[in-house]
Formats: sequence, structure tokens, C-alpha cells
Amino acid sequence: MGICKLCLQEAVLLKKSHIIPDFMYGPLFDESHKIIKATPKDLIDGDKKRISVPSSGEYDQDILCQNCDNKIIGQYESYARPILYGGFNDSKKPIFQTFRNQNDIGLTECLNIDYKKFKLFLLSILWRASISKRPLFDKIDLDFDEEIIRKMIITGDAGEESDFPIFLIRISDPLFEKSIAPPRRSKDPKDRIFEFMIAGIQYMFYCAKDRTPALVLLATIKKNNRLLMAHMPRELILDQRKKAFGV
Ligand SMILES: [Zn+2]
Repeated sequence: MGICKLCLQEAVLLKKSHIIPDFMYGPLFDESHKIIKATPKDLIDGDKKRISVPSSGEYDQDILCQNCDNKIIGQYESYARPILYGGFNDSKKPIFQTFRNQNDIGLTECLNIDYKKFKLFLLSILWRASISKRPLFDKIDLDFDEEIIRKMIITGDAGEESDFPIFLIRISDPLFEKSIAPPRRSKDPKDRIFEFMIAGIQYMFYCAKDRTPALVLLATIKKNNRLLMAHMPRELILDQRKKAFGV
């Protein structure tokens, strides 16, 4: 027994709660079942490190009760999985259209993405990383936002579009698709940007409302169930990360 970090009730706590859901690790395993855990710079330099990790990825124990992990967070995960990795088969199928904008940036417009479920799924990863004690997530500390996001997850309230907007960037590169980078926070602490790079997608969470770039507000998931995902070659990603995260 212990206090669950999501519902704050005394309950039997699970021995295994994933911080990043299992299915997001799936694409990372290569034929020899090894995951590449490296910084993007390592990948560019060709200094990739293959580290054997358990097939179930990183998890914490004694943080969540069964109801919170399997039902509350579980419902967001079940919704997000086919959006990210395919396999939708009902009429509410998302629609993806890829085009180039006037600056020759590749963009995918995603329609029919449930604002509440998909946003809360992404925020649940950020929140879990913040409460996690695993060293991989030690740069993720939401501070006062941890309680705000906890309430959003448990009450199923995804808030306004400008609350914790998220920018997704697809990096078209086979090495990035097989890697996970240690999550980071922005170089300038006032920016409060948190970054995850998992299996070829960079997820950027913007927690400082007054410092969120207009482009992020345009691209983040909207209440009309639309989001824009940018595509970037790996060289541009390195530039952008250097500016924002100092790496
Ligand atoms: Zn709970």
C-alpha cells in the first residue's frame, strides 16, 4: 500500500509503471533486440551506443495504482497507439496529408485526432517523467506545473489550446527512428521547454505560456482535432537543439 501519485489515494501500488509506454519502444528494437540509446549528436557523429535494455523499457515501481495506470492513463494510451503506429480501423480514422509550406518545410496535417485524448496522452508522458525517479528522466521536473497537469489527467480536462502546447517534429533518418535520447529541458530555464526524442519523433512541450512561439501555437493540437507535425532533416534538428537546449 502507498499513496498513488495520480489519484492521491491510499492503494496497492503497481510494481511496474511505464514512463514511456511500451508500444513507443517497439520500433526501437533492432533485429538483435538492442536499443540504441544515444544523444542526437552521437548519432550524427556515428558514435552510437547499443545498450541492451529490457524489452519492457524503463519503468518505476510504487508510483501508481492499478486504476490510474491501466484505466485512466491506459485509455489515453490505447487511443494514441494507432495514431502514432497505425492500425486504426473505425470510422473516426485520422486523416494525414503531407505538403510543403512556402519555406519548403515539410508538414503533415493530421485531422480527426481527438483533442482531449491525444493531448492528455502526450501530457501523461511528460507528467510521468516528472514524477519518475529513473535517471533517464532527471532533467524533467515540472515543478508547480506537475500538480496542474496531474489534475488535467485525472479529470480528463485537456485545458485550452494554449495550455501546455506541444510541437511534434518527425526526423526522417533511419538512425533516429531506432533511438531514444535522454529527455532534456531548455537551456534558458524561463523558457520551460521539455524535449523527448523517441523513435524518430521529437516531442516538445512548452510550459511557459508567455514565451511560447507563435508557430507552436499554430501547430499544436487544436480543439477542432487538428495538429501539424513538421518534418526536418537531421542537420536542422541539430541546429535547433543547439539553440534551445545547448547540446
Ligand atoms: Zn491512483
